[in-house]
Amino acid sequence: MATITCPRCQQIVEAQAITCPHCRLTLKAFGHPGIPLYRAIGDEYLCDRCIYHADDTCNFPQRPYAKDCTLYQDITEQQLQQQQQLDNSSFNVTFKNWLKRNQGLLLLLGLILICLIIALATT
Ligand code: SF4
Ligand SMILES: [Zn+2]
Repeated sequence: MATITCPRCQQIVEAQAITCPHCRLTLKAFGHPGIPLYRAIGDEYLCDRCIYHADDTCNFPQRPYAKDCTLYQDITEQQLQQQQQLDNSSFNVTFKNWLKRNQGLLLLLGLILICLIIALATT
């Protein structure tokens, strides 16, 4: 069973819970377990860390002072993903460059391998 931490009382709560069974905080919007209601922690505003505030695509009236929101998307998660994509592509580039630089060596190794296979097959 998936669980989350209640943002108000910090108790472990079932991920699908619509309200926190300990402090009665509303955790899902419109009484639907599939619509998470994100909440700001402490004095922060959700918009400060939201993708749609950063790229200026949100037109919710509560922006930029939303304390709870159903559409909130954590910008740090997106940044992490972008960083990972960057890391992956830079690994690919490095690997391709290495292949290019060592083409001759790889060709030689391939030939030796073929020779070995032929030698083994004919004995
Ligand atoms: S989607 Fe919600 S949290 Fe994000 S900027 Fe708009 S109001 Fe703020
Ligand atoms: Zn709670």
